[in-house]
Amino acid sequence: MEFTGNRVRQLFLEYFEQKGHTIVASSSLVPHNDPTLLFSNAGMNQFKDVFLGFEKRPYVRATTSQKCVRAGGKHNDLDTVGRTARHHTFFEMLGNFSFGDYFKKDAIRFAWEFLTEVCQLPKDKLYATVYLDDDEAFALWRDMIGVPEERILRLGEKDNFWAMGDTGPCGPCSEILIDRGEHLRCKADECAIGKCDCDRWLEIWNLVFMQYNRDENGVMTPLPRPSIDTGMGLERVTSVLQNVGSNYDTDLMRPIIAFVEQLCGQVYHRDDRGFPFRVIADHIRSCTFLITDGVLPGNEGRGYVLRRILRRAVRFGKVLGIDKPFMHEIVPVVVELMGAAYPDIREKQDFVRKVIKIEEERFHETLTDGMRIAADMVAKVKQEGGNVLPGKQAFTLYDTYGFPLDLAEDIAEENGLTVDKDGFQQAMEAQRERARAARQDTVYGAGMELWAELLQQLGPTVFTGYGKTAGESVV
Ligand code: ATP
Ligand code: MG
Ligand code: MG
Ligand code: MG
Repeated sequence: MEFTGNRVRQLFLEYFEQKGHTIVASSSLVPHNDPTLLFSNAGMNQFKDVFLGFEKRPYVRATTSQKCVRAGGKHNDLDTVGRTARHHTFFEMLGNFSFGDYFKKDAIRFAWEFLTEVCQLPKDKLYATVYLDDDEAFALWRDMIGVPEERILRLGEKDNFWAMGDTGPCGPCSEILIDRGEHLRCKADECAIGKCDCDRWLEIWNLVFMQYNRDENGVMTPLPRPSIDTGMGLERVTSVLQNVGSNYDTDLMRPIIAFVEQLCGQVYHRDDRGFPFRVIADHIRSCTFLITDGVLPGNEGRGYVLRRILRRAVRFGKVLGIDKPFMHEIVPVVVELMGAAYPDIREKQDFVRKVIKIEEERFHETLTDGMRIAADMVAKVKQEGGNVLPGKQAFTLYDTYGFPLDLAEDIAEENGLTVDKDGFQQAMEAQRERARAARQDTVYGAGMELWAELLQQLGPTVFTGYGKTAGESVV
């Protein structure tokens, strides 16, 4: 059997459906009714109120493939993208949920059966971690499943206590990792689970034993009925099943990289040279899904995270020698790969392409000059024997050339420098003060006129992202 990414998603949902779970569609990336959350970042988000006992559903077991974005906010993997083989800003989280129904025993049993029987993963390569004092989970792994003690590790809060945010449902968790082999060993003295953070010990599945609700003061109250929330990265498990060393080499992402290879006329390498390709492949997925879900590039909040992601990819395109707007051209590739699972991206693709194109064109007006100025700034710092790009200069790139701070950081890093982030923030604050003093009432925020115009051209029905509820999109 061939484990295509699309098939793995389907196998997962079908497996849990057979175990009495209702297949529920992914919720929007823009969480509705949850101001504590920037973007959906886990499968459980849409069930938060169900876990808290505020909401009743006609089922007590659910399974989903949830669109997640971890950029900005509490979980932020933006900087990690392209450096590790396993992190994305946008990814799909496969999950099974029990709302006060089954608990640890069945959660562990299901996960093990899915991985070793449906996916046929080798048992002797799998490891389990449990929270320090979770003897119950330890015993289940050892006695019920038969995992040898030396492959069950007890880890602390950072790895094995899951919380959705500073407040909300939380609890100890148990994770399943797979040893991807000695050849991926990192350079840390001790390359081992819990000691290093490399791609050898690939974390694939997190089983959260949701037992508490944490309030603003950090007080944890037991939930009415303990529940289960699990999350497994589709791209990660697919990389294991396709026996490739990186998420970027799976059939979910490699075609995007292949398309970028064509665009720039260069060959992709898996090492550091391939970094810009990986960033672009990752970021176009985020952009496509975020815009589909109603986020538009802007200067604040979600809109600014989107703008940062898009502009970062555009600059990396330029690093690869692509000298024109190109990100919008990749949208159909994403649609081809994922449109069956997420029909929304197919339906909205014209709109998504237009938004991306406009934003790219706009950024191109200042990109070349900005890159030239940045190169001069970097050269000057180096000439003077320094290793930090002053915050004021990063702010000039931001303010005059539209370079989000990430870009200054990327450029600095490419030249062995860092950016004085505090200095940047100070310059930003000073600018805000000046703007506040000079502010006049305007109808739209900066930049919004453009989108208003576009929406008018396309007609109001095209854009339905904002009002969307969880149940509307179909997996
Ligand atoms: P890691 O330690 O690798 O950063 P995590 O512990 O932050 O992962 P969880 O919050 O436990 O991740 O999320 C559950 C699962 O979702 C992970 O086990 C992994 O398979 C997947 N996952 C998490 N973050 C990402 C990401 N940025 N890109 C792709 N998959 C991810
Ligand atoms: Mg993480
Ligand atoms: Mg982890
Ligand atoms: Mg984890």
